[in-house]
Amino acid sequence: STVLALETSCDESAAAIVSGRRVLAGAVASQMEEHARWGGVVPEIASRRHVEALPALIAQVLEQSGLAMADLDAIAATVAPGLAGALLVGSVTARTLARLHGKPFLGVHHLEGHLCSVHLGEPLPEGPYLVLLVSGGHTELVKVEAPGSYLRLGRSRDDAAGECFDKVARLLGLGYPGGPAIEAAALDGDPGRFRFPKGRVSLPQGGFHPYDFSFSGLKTAVLRQVQTLSRQAGSLPVADLAASFEEVVAEVLVERSCRCAVEAGLQTIVLVGGVAANRRLRRHMSEATAARGLGWRVAPLAYCTDNAAMVGLAAIERFDAGGRSGIALGVAARLPLEQAGTLYAPQPP
Ligand code: ATP
Ligand code: MG
Ligand code: FE
Repeated sequence: STVLALETSCDESAAAIVSGRRVLAGAVASQMEEHARWGGVVPEIASRRHVEALPALIAQVLEQSGLAMADLDAIAATVAPGLAGALLVGSVTARTLARLHGKPFLGVHHLEGHLCSVHLGEPLPEGPYLVLLVSGGHTELVKVEAPGSYLRLGRSRDDAAGECFDKVARLLGLGYPGGPAIEAAALDGDPGRFRFPKGRVSLPQGGFHPYDFSFSGLKTAVLRQVQTLSRQAGSLPVADLAASFEEVVAEVLVERSCRCAVEAGLQTIVLVGGVAANRRLRRHMSEATAARGLGWRVAPLAYCTDNAAMVGLAAIERFDAGGRSGIALGVAARLPLEQAGTLYAPQPP
């Protein structure tokens, strides 16, 4: 089937037309530069920019695909999780179009979209697998038992991995978003120069949680190191700091996901979310999985950060399985991935 999908959960306005597993057209308008002035996303500004951006994006993807509204089987939008005001813009737009053109509407869980981004590359492996979802707002290890059936096995107890990249980038005087800035700065840095801690989460009965993450201590450790270095003469070794930081994040993400996969009896690790674009992380994942006889997959680079194609793909999987959302479906700032199925509750006739 063929859908028009909208994504407005944060600071990217995006539209795409997806047919089966093919992206017929996709467009993303980023507001990052505007929010960078404020050092983070300003919800009110985000909503206003989505309102301004969507009409042109929708016209653009329709034109690019050569399709008309009548050719679509359904219209979809991200409805959770994210900034409520921003989500409403995409959701109201999609529901209005759906009503106007007599099409079914599908509300999509943003993280299910990130999971589906892998399908935009080669087809996914069969059977259950482990997903390492690393984005600006989430760091989770999720067992996918079957399509739409999720079990969270690990998560960050404080900052998300991407959030940590953004905060450390700010600390090092690099730009926003932090991930790409740190990756560029780290290119000719020495990843072994500084030893930063791999944050661990204590268990009440003693020991540490094997699959949970903590990144707030790492951010503080980088801050302390920067303060110490600043007291000494000379300029800050930004490349070495960035490389050492990136190295420890990649190590901890890969170590814990490999351990989780092995102990849960899962053969494949699937890497998704904005941080999955990181080349050092991809390299570490490739080496560590090979050493343990595991397989691994990653979303195509262009579909790691927020986009509407992944939302369209998630919608198509739900639609083809008979899923439909109510036209009055609301948005939710928070919604665990395990509850994504509630967005397709049976509708009264
Ligand atoms: P969520 O999906 O949890 O709601 P989000 O949609 O804001 O959050 P994404 O768009 O998936 O997050 O990813 C953005 C994050 O990815 C930012 O924190 C950014 O710094 C990080 N990121 C992007 N590219 C890279 C990279 N090359 N290396 C590391 N981090 C990166
Ligand atoms: Mg974003
Ligand atoms: Fe995202």
